[in-house]
Amino acid sequence: MSGPLPSSIEVCIVGAGPSGLACALGLAARKIPFVIVDALEAGHNSSRAVGMHASALEAIKTVHPQLADRLVSAGIQSKGFTVIDLHERLLFHLRMTELAAYTKYAFMLLIPQHTAEHHMREYILGGGNSIHWNKRVIGVKEAADGVQYELRFESGEALTARYLIAADGSKSFLRTFAGIPFIDPYTKKVAEPGKNDLSFVVADVVFASPLPANVPRDGPQVMVGAGGMVLTAPILSEDSAGASVQNDNLFRLYLGVPDTPPRAPDAPYLQAILNARGPGSHLKTQPVPQIVKVVESSRYRTRTALADRYVHRAEGGAYILLVGDAAHKHGPAGGQGMNMGICDSIELAQAIEEHRKCAVDAEKAGAHKAVQIMDAYSTRRRTVALRVLNMVDHMTEVEKGGQGWGAYLRLKFLWALFKMPFMNGIFAWQLGGLGHAKKP
Ligand SMILES: Cc1cc2nc3c(=O)[nH]c(=O)nc-3n(C[C@H](O)[C@H](O)[C@H](O)COP(=O)(O)OP(=O)(O)OC[C@H]3O[C@@H](n4cnc5c(N)ncnc54)[C@H](O)[C@@H]3O)c2cc1C
Repeated sequence: MSGPLPSSIEVCIVGAGPSGLACALGLAARKIPFVIVDALEAGHNSSRAVGMHASALEAIKTVHPQLADRLVSAGIQSKGFTVIDLHERLLFHLRMTELAAYTKYAFMLLIPQHTAEHHMREYILGGGNSIHWNKRVIGVKEAADGVQYELRFESGEALTARYLIAADGSKSFLRTFAGIPFIDPYTKKVAEPGKNDLSFVVADVVFASPLPANVPRDGPQVMVGAGGMVLTAPILSEDSAGASVQNDNLFRLYLGVPDTPPRAPDAPYLQAILNARGPGSHLKTQPVPQIVKVVESSRYRTRTALADRYVHRAEGGAYILLVGDAAHKHGPAGGQGMNMGICDSIELAQAIEEHRKCAVDAEKAGAHKAVQIMDAYSTRRRTVALRVLNMVDHMTEVEKGGQGWGAYLRLKFLWALFKMPFMNGIFAWQLGGLGHAKKP
């Protein structure tokens, strides 16, 4: 039971996805009073992100080391991932283990997003905090005192807070209220739905035994070529008590698709794609893996967009602060979205802690240190997002595959690039996001 909403609080986090939960963890660790609300009836349970990188685990470790350990034990530690072409020739095998000199998380943790969220929620609730479900924000205005915002909920309540955390996803209500443009950073135009969208199918499936040898059981494999990518990633299943358990044939699939897929793709739809361009489809020495059960499936459309700024300051010194998908949006290549959101949020909790130490009156006077603290958060995290968006964009071009000489040469170039010994370290560093960590 979450109990009634307070009528006033210092920080209100809108959205209990991974970014909102990470922000709650950061604030709880600093003993900053907050509430977290979400429009959903309970945490979602659908297939979304699957990879957690060293940067997110390191960020979580700074506030809750035991939670970082628990997440690691709830997933599969993949030492790297493999990229092959349609004929199953190796383009490269990325070794995340090269990060071992910098982090104890020198792997890509394969953990479904809903499992990660489940553990984060347990830590928040275990710390005596509540998550208020069924609380859709439908209105926001500056409160009469000018130092707070007032939120209105569909359920009828109202609440005032000095800091509103917009962790409310890519269609963010709070970002829209603040009038912050959500822009394609390359074309500088507002990212319009339908334009340059990427279409994916995401599905958790059980393959028949025996599993063909060309479907790795210890890490993700991406197959690129004409038609789009086929990614297979092993995942653990959950028992009735929510504990992660080994299931040798349970896999997450990400399939790039050229057209609009069905809302919940079924086994024949998914199998047809595997038969056409999955493992075993071109190199006939191994059979194509056969789907015996679809546990969950959905379609996913995305486009690249970045908020113009992450901070909106009201006249009186109240703030709307963007994190996660409310601030940036991109394709799933490299599994960066959830990670960036977690890192945004843990950094923001630190910025709020510093900001609270500055008197409100001093901030009202204008260019005070307080304003700079929040601006620094915005500039830093936006710069990180720009770098990540750029990397994801390049990876997406490779994953899209395509036909003709352009696509062929791109794959050959990639193959040649990864023959250089230092390339693995550079790419693992970028993907793991360690270079983006805030310096103490
Ligand atoms: C199908 C799919 C596959 C994906 N695959 C990957 C992947 O492989 N790798 C990767 O890194 N990322 C992936 N992503 C993206 C990843 O899931 C997001 O980056 C991540 O969920 C962002 O977390 P968030 O907390 O910022 O936003 P969200 O997870 O979108 O959470 C926002 C929350 O805000 C709530 N909310 C919204 N509006 C309101 C309101 N007005 N009032 C109250 N609550 C509100 C919503 O109910 C929701 O719970 C995928 C996404 C999808 C949909």
